[in-house]
Amino acid sequence: MNYKEIIIGIQKRIALIAHDNKKQELLEWARFNRDTLSKHKLYATGTTGDLLERELGLSIIKLQSGPLGGDQQIGAKISEGEIDFLIFFWDPLEPLPHDPDVKALLRIAIVWNIPIACNRSTADFLISSSLMEQEYKRLVPDYSTYRERLKRSFSNILFSLLL
Ligand code: PGA
Repeated sequence: MNYKEIIIGIQKRIALIAHDNKKQELLEWARFNRDTLSKHKLYATGTTGDLLERELGLSIIKLQSGPLGGDQQIGAKISEGEIDFLIFFWDPLEPLPHDPDVKALLRIAIVWNIPIACNRSTADFLISSSLMEQEYKRLVPDYSTYRERLKRSFSNILFSLLL
């Protein structure tokens, strides 16, 4: 497999999301790390963003509330290269109406190899990493081979239909 390098700049573009039972934990974590977070560009789903903005007094790009499509918006921004860091405190003890969106977001974060923290201790390790103050070369599989393979198999199907 070939890889491409995508740079995560010194200023990270961080998405923050917390499910309702995890919001308090995220707020406490964000308050403790406010100085570090203030150096980066912050995004959040609707309700999480409102709470964080009030708690931190920092400006946050707020998307839709998670169940209304906010998780999907964040996933789209990861695919487009606009978000390169995810702090996502999801709730392991409660089923939610937008569970498929949660799974999709976690999947997309893996596809694009961005750092993700889904609990507080991982978030602590990530935010205290020396890489937070440096550029980082994120290795992403070169999906052009994958795209070409799909194109080839579709043209084969079309070709066989025409025969
Ligand atoms: P919220 O969405 O920040 O709007 O509560 C979070 C989620 O449930 O994904």
